[in-house]
This record gives sequence, structure tokens and C-alpha cells, in this order.
Amino acid sequence: AQRNPGQPEFHQAVTEVMESLWPFIAAHPKYAEQGLLERLVEPERVVMFRVSWVDDHGQVQVNRGYRIQHSMAIGPYKGGIRFHPSVNLSVLKFLAFEQTFKNALTTLPMGGGKGGSDFDPKGKSPAEVMRFCQAFAGELFRHVGSDTDVPAGDIGVGGREVGYMAGMVKKLTNRADCVFTGKGLSFGGSLIRPEATGYGTVYFAQEMLKTRQMDFQGLRVSVSGSGNVAQYAVEKAMHLGARVITVSDSSGTVIDEDGFSPEKLALLMEVKNHLYGRVSDYAARTGSRFEAGVRPWHVPVDVALPCATQNELDENDARTLIANGVKCVAEGANMPSTIEAAKAFEAAGILYAPGKASNAGGVATSGLEMSQNAERMAWPREEVDARLLQIMQGIHAACLAHGRQADGRVSYIDGANIAGFVKVADAMLAQGVI
Ligand code: NDP
Repeated sequence: AQRNPGQPEFHQAVTEVMESLWPFIAAHPKYAEQGLLERLVEPERVVMFRVSWVDDHGQVQVNRGYRIQHSMAIGPYKGGIRFHPSVNLSVLKFLAFEQTFKNALTTLPMGGGKGGSDFDPKGKSPAEVMRFCQAFAGELFRHVGSDTDVPAGDIGVGGREVGYMAGMVKKLTNRADCVFTGKGLSFGGSLIRPEATGYGTVYFAQEMLKTRQMDFQGLRVSVSGSGNVAQYAVEKAMHLGARVITVSDSSGTVIDEDGFSPEKLALLMEVKNHLYGRVSDYAARTGSRFEAGVRPWHVPVDVALPCATQNELDENDARTLIANGVKCVAEGANMPSTIEAAKAFEAAGILYAPGKASNAGGVATSGLEMSQNAERMAWPREEVDARLLQIMQGIHAACLAHGRQADGRVSYIDGANIAGFVKVADAMLAQGVI
């Protein structure tokens, strides 16, 4: 904490991982050598830069841009770009740290990184978004490359923004290689990448439910958020027979006891992705209930899928979900549950998966996009989806293998942290003190 003052999210992420690792390292002392832990909590490089651009009124705007290159131990830095007013060094360092373990869990050769800006895309015109993305890429291009650092999307950064940044990087470098994933299909994007994080989260939850002889059929599900991850989590859960009752955004929650249908989801996507509207607009158009300023966790469900942002589910929310009989919580977002909430779920014997395990399908499919770009091929939808499912099943198996507790129960927190750590740590030990 003394070394990194004012970085609460980064401390939170490191604390959560270290609590899993202490007992493991005590039993495997080689991982205490070579200053391994001290090196692992220090990003290899942090780049911070000015992003100046001109808005539609001719005014100069200045934002701050970042790229955290956390670890290259097992492959090029890899992780999304986030545009949101809450972005700061602490948030991006936590995300880059988490990303390093998550990417290791996928078993694909990807290191960890994250970037972004405090730019707020809400209320900006399409031309302003393009100018901002180009200005951001005007500095980012110096630090990225297909074998160095391969960014993708995250909150506030979807296919449109990735396209503008990738286009500018291409222009500035005069190279057409794969510097971003999550690209449009017309210039090297992978099928299933937009769906991958949401689908992967549901695939992971499906594996968890199987361990208790359950499946999604007929279960009540709450989803938070209504962006990229949330939309495809809704789609896959619905496809598997679940009744999805909620979606949300920072203004409130939509509650629909009849559950989502394909038609309702298409309307939500239209409102969010094309009209850049709010879930309240969606509620008004469907006549469903909208609760302003409220999160979804008071609604009784069997499965909760937090898919919005960090620390959106606290201990009180966890206790409410538990009291209402929740059986499984799988995180589509990064660190949506506070440490206390996560502990409450585990203590109550709820199946609980931290984001670094359950939402790894997005970056895994980014890894598959990199493979397709490298061989200049595009794989069919079925092939990418089958590989995604296989990777999620592999991560689930790794969590079971490393997360078994003395009393026989499985901690997915320990499982994910230890399995990810072992892969990164072995690679770091083999490559010496660098
Ligand atoms: P989007 O920008 O598409 O959607 C974000 C959603 O979360 C929106 O509904 C947004 O509501 C809500 N949200 C964002 N910030 C806040 C906040 N401070 N308070 C309340 N609600 C908020 O982003 P994604 O769907 O891509 O990302 C969602 C989460 O999933 C993030 O934690 C991200 O890191 C994680 N993730 C994403 C991956 C991907 O492939 N995209 C991969 C792995 C993890 P509003 O519109 O009101 O801001």
C-alpha cells in the first residue's frame, strides 16, 4: 500500500490473489524464490499520455490515456482498452494484474495488459468518438504490435472504437498486421468474438451447475449490465432454457418476470448498440418494470451473472442473494463482487466463480483471432464456438484441480488464482530475473 498509494482497486485485486497464494507457496517454497511475488505485483511498464482532440464545437479537449503492460512472461501483452470517466491508474493496474492470470488460465500464449482513458463516450457524436479514438491511437501505436502488445475492447470500447483505433495504428505504422482483436469481420475479426465473453461465462456456469447435477433449464437468472458481455450472457442463458429476468445499467434495473425472448433481446441490442440509449428506454418500449438507481441483486434468482463493472455487488447484496436461494454466481465482469461478497458466497456454499475464470472466454477468443490472423485464415463460427466451449471446460477443470479444500469443497477463487499463478510463475522462473 505504501508503494502504491491511492490505488484501492489494485490493492483489492492483489489481496484477493495473495490470500489464495500464501498457503500454496508455503507448501511449494520454490515460488518464494527469485523475488517472484515482488516482480509479479509490479507492472513491467506503465505508459501514461495526453490525448488532445477537438470537439464538435471547435473546443480543445484533453483526456489522459494509459497502457499498462503488466507481464510478457508467457506471450505478448494482451488485454482490453476501457473508455469510462472512472478510469484511473488504480483501475487499470487491477485489470492488467487480473488479466495476467486470466490469460494464463486460457492456456493460450498471451501475457497481460490493459489500457484506456477517462474519456466518456456518453453523449459524444459519432465524429467526436472517431476523433478521440484516432487521437488515442496516435500515441498508443508506439507501444503496441502483433508480437508486443495486442489490445481489444472493454467498457465503452466495442467494434466501432476498435475499428477506428486499428485503422489509425495501421496508417501510422504502414503495417497491416494484427494489432487489435475484436476487429470487424471485414478486416480480420473472428466470428464469435463479440459473443465470447457472455457465452463463455454461461458455459462456465453450466460446468459449475453440472457439479451439482443441475442445468440452466427453467432456472431464474439475473444479469447486470446491458453492454457487450451482458447481452450475450442473456442470449446464451436463454438459449439453454433459463428465464432471464433482469438487465441494468448505471441508471437502474429492468425487471421482467416473463423473462427475455429473442425479440426482446433484439430490441435491447437495438437500443444499446445502435441508438446508444439507456435500459430505461428499452423498458419504456417493452412496458417492463424499470427501477431507477437500483441494482438487480434484490430479485430472487437461482443464478446471478454480474456483467457490468467492478464492485457492483457488495456484502449486503450477497447476503440478499443467499437469503433468496441463489445457487450459482458467475462473474462476466471483472471483480464485480467485493472481497467480502465473494467470501460470503463461498462461506454459504454457493457455487461462486471469479471473473478471471468465468469471463476468460473473451480473451481466449481474442487469442483464437490472433491465430487466425497469423495464418491468414478465418475459421467457421462452429469451430470457434466449439474451441471456446472447450477452453471454458478446461478452465473449469483447472479450478477443480487447484481449488479443492481440506473439507472437499471447491473454492473457484483459490483454483483460478493458483492455476493461473503456476503457469505465469513457472514461465518467470525459467526466464530468470529480468
Ligand atoms: P460495455 O461498455 O459494453 O457495457 C458496460 C455495462 O456496464 C453497461 O451496461 C454500463 O452501463 C455498465 N456500467 C459500466 N460502468 C458502470 C458503473 N460505474 N456503474 C454501473 N454500471 C456500469 O462493456 P462490456 O460489456 O464489454 O464490459 C462489462 C464488464 O465485463 C467489464 O467489467 C469488463 O471489464 C468485463 N469484461 C469484458 C470483456 C469483453 O470482451 N468485452 C472481456 C472480459 C471482461 P452504462 O451504459 O450506464 O455505463
